Amino acid sequence: MEIFGSLIGNENIKKSLGSEIASSKFLHAYIIEGKKGTGKHTVARLAAAAIMCRNKEKIPCGVCDTCRKILSDNCADVKFSDAFKVDDIRKIKETLYETSTECDYKVYILNDVQKMTVKAQNALLISLEEPPENVVFFLLCTDANALLETIRSRAQILRTEPLDEKTIFEYVRNSDIAKDLPDDKLKEIILCSGGSLGYVLDMADQKNADILIEKRRKALKFTKSILAPDADGYSFIASLASFPREDAAEMLLSVLTALRDLIILKKDKRANLCFFSSRDEALSLSSKFNIKKLTSLYDATEKAIYDINANASVISTLISLI
Ligand SMILES: [Zn+2]
Repeated sequence: MEIFGSLIGNENIKKSLGSEIASSKFLHAYIIEGKKGTGKHTVARLAAAAIMCRNKEKIPCGVCDTCRKILSDNCADVKFSDAFKVDDIRKIKETLYETSTECDYKVYILNDVQKMTVKAQNALLISLEEPPENVVFFLLCTDANALLETIRSRAQILRTEPLDEKTIFEYVRNSDIAKDLPDDKLKEIILCSGGSLGYVLDMADQKNADILIEKRRKALKFTKSILAPDADGYSFIASLASFPREDAAEMLLSVLTALRDLIILKKDKRANLCFFSSRDEALSLSSKFNIKKLTSLYDATEKAIYDINANASVISTLISLI
């Protein structure tokens, strides 16, 4: 039987959750933990459809009535909720024992549960301990450690993993998304995504790509200017005098990532790069500076981000890095 056929990557989840659903031995509660954009909602939605789909060869089949309703978020028995407070949990509890309207099960998908108050978590606990027979909870979060141990111990924790660049690239190029976006621009977006397909799907259009590339160009120029200051570098940094605070902090975060690449290349020339799209460019830049210089600039950039976030003058902080 094909399970979660449309799920990209996340083989661990396909195996564990997929086989539990296929053999009807799934639990009443799962915590799905992962970074933003790594497919937590997709997994929960596919799992809900797989639980309810009656197809024998492929779950979810994606074409039966139940699948179509669930996968388009139009099924009354699959409820999405931002339940952070006790009152929200109370409302959920009121519906737990209502008979399901169209499916055999009722599935509750709770978003961002790391934001749930301790009181709300305690209120939810009893429903996780003694849930009605036909109820399944998916608790989605970026950090399962933010949940009470009592909650964690009553659910199976599944982790969505960032995708590799090749997988994301092939997925986008094989879909109808961003057909007009050239490969090189798509690759730049993927490089900035940290493996988040959701981020790439949000950003993959010409306008966003151009904004992103301009930001990266600026961060690279800044990095080069502080590594080897010259007249051009000084006038570039001076031109950032009216740079908004958030933009400056965001640029310095990219500078930090670029410096990280240059430092890591000193130890391993084949290391994964997070900022540079051209390994040759990164290697050539890295070879010009010693590790002491790179790490001291890294530390200074970290401090500059802290200072800018703490309201220090943007332009004085940027100049201080030269
Ligand atoms: Zn189906």
